[in-house]
Amino acid sequence: MVQLTFSAARPEPPVLYAREELTRYLTRMLAGATAAIEVELDVQPPPHPAPGWDAALDDWFHVQARPGRIAVTGSNARSVLLGAYRLLHHLGCRFLMPGRRHEAVPALRPEDLRADLQEAAACRHRGVCIEGADSLENILDFIDWLPKIGCNSFFVQHLEPEAFLQNWYAHKYNPLLAPAPRSEAELQRMYRQIDAAIARRGLLHHRAGHGWTCKAIGFEHVCAKLPAPTGAQRPLLAEVDGRREFWQGVPSNTNLCYSNPAARRAFVQSVADYAGAHPEVDYLHVWLADEYNNICECDACRRTTLSDQYVGLLNEIDAELTRRGLGTRIAFLLYQELLWPPEHAVLEHPERFTLMFAPISRTFERSYADHGALPPLPAFRRNRIRLPETVEENLAFLRAWQERCRVDAFVYDYPLGRAHYGDLGYCAIARVIAQDIGALPELGLNGYCSCQELRAALPNAWPNYVMGRMLWDRTLDPQALQEEYFTALYGPGAAEARDALERLSALSSADYFNGIGPRQDAALAARFRRAADAAEVLRALAAEKQTLCTDLHKIAWQLLDYHAGYCRLMVEALAALAQGEENRAQQQWNAVMDHIRRHEMEFQPYLDVYRVLEVATKYTGFTLDMPR
Ligand SMILES: [Zn+2]
Repeated sequence: MVQLTFSAARPEPPVLYAREELTRYLTRMLAGATAAIEVELDVQPPPHPAPGWDAALDDWFHVQARPGRIAVTGSNARSVLLGAYRLLHHLGCRFLMPGRRHEAVPALRPEDLRADLQEAAACRHRGVCIEGADSLENILDFIDWLPKIGCNSFFVQHLEPEAFLQNWYAHKYNPLLAPAPRSEAELQRMYRQIDAAIARRGLLHHRAGHGWTCKAIGFEHVCAKLPAPTGAQRPLLAEVDGRREFWQGVPSNTNLCYSNPAARRAFVQSVADYAGAHPEVDYLHVWLADEYNNICECDACRRTTLSDQYVGLLNEIDAELTRRGLGTRIAFLLYQELLWPPEHAVLEHPERFTLMFAPISRTFERSYADHGALPPLPAFRRNRIRLPETVEENLAFLRAWQERCRVDAFVYDYPLGRAHYGDLGYCAIARVIAQDIGALPELGLNGYCSCQELRAALPNAWPNYVMGRMLWDRTLDPQALQEEYFTALYGPGAAEARDALERLSALSSADYFNGIGPRQDAALAARFRRAADAAEVLRALAAEKQTLCTDLHKIAWQLLDYHAGYCRLMVEALAALAQGEENRAQQQWNAVMDHIRRHEMEFQPYLDVYRVLEVATKYTGFTLDMPR
């Protein structure tokens, strides 16, 4: 019988949740033993806070355990929960993927309950932003997983996460599943469950992003296709090629005429109204339209730059929030046109703002850590910009902004947003993530938010795992972590699984899948053909291993078996594409689409079929067989 007694628990929800979680896991780990454990959970500042320490944002804990007693002190309520999970990790628990069936929870003897861990997070910002097609369960499982791997924030993109939920429930791009779109009332219930899951863990709640341009012209949410603006909307829109229209018919991709005072006022009021109505949001993201080379060309707008107009808007928002007594933090975006720093405008109250550097077009075959000399910035040419690709080009923009604007900053990065589909072993992309995190201090960045598919676990969730663990502790050795992860997930065959996946990584290309580089490349075609053999090796290995194990290891090996079959089809398609054999490439690609659609429900938490299809047919060069 195991009895946990909690002394004078603090009332904050994350502390109460830490109590539930400790009870749940320790009861299971100590099952069959007799133990009475006194537990004290408390919130106290760290004894030696680092310069610039913020009690609400920065995480520190001291965890002490000996037989019969546990004490977890955190610098805030969330830190207590983080400390509780750190203790469980120390005692042998491994949280390997989202979803509780993917956890390794060992047995524990009462006399082995010992720990003394005093740690502070290496980075302030450690989180993930939602993308893709996600069921409510996928989202809740991911939020549940974040603090278990050391993360502290979740970003709900858009004003509500409608698009991501509907992508799943409507089974976008999978005609083999019957669409079941949810009603507005059902969606509202889901939104509130997501908010509650974030609050319960005390995660920093990031919200919105694109969509303010829509709200400013009167739409309630981010708005998809519409034929034409109304007479009242038209003058607020950017003038491009002499016309003020929705950009390619999509309001959320349409910029406003930011020199129009009515447009500015509507934009500022929309942000301030939302901030006032949503005190649960810690970081409100204020971004412009989600496209580029479509900014206003009117005479007034031509006299300045988009970034100067943007900083002006941010200052107006700051003033309005201050007037309303709102302390909401604002995150602003360096992306597309906004990569060019303002020429004149400066943030009047930088303490309200966090800079978010979003190098969406970067390579993922090199890390920030490998960067060479930074080139001069290219001249800003209105509606004729080219997005930077190399690590150096991207970092040059960040450096230029930082020279003008000293604020809290993090990188919003995309390794698991598109490029990961090109790394068929997930080992290369995980290495880039680990190296990038190591380079953050040198770049003046205090963290990392991964804009990504939540169903990104085929072949496994090693890239996300290394991300979370290293954002907490940058001194961890990625190779030792990889061994920890693979051993826990695959058991005795871990080294063979690693070798097979490393081989697939070496023979595939994250950049090619992501549309970077020439589409015809004979050397790459040859590499993809060799990857087919590597996939066969993996298939044979997985077929053997899955019969020898049970539980979590069996799930992991079955997943590798499925992955090997998927890789086999995918590399045939990629080899034909890179060889320039268009018909054969499309034929092979059709086989990939058919295969993953047929198996989507079996492997739902691991592979986002909608998103693979979206990326492969927008960036890689394959064709989608149905309307978008
Ligand atoms: Zn204009």
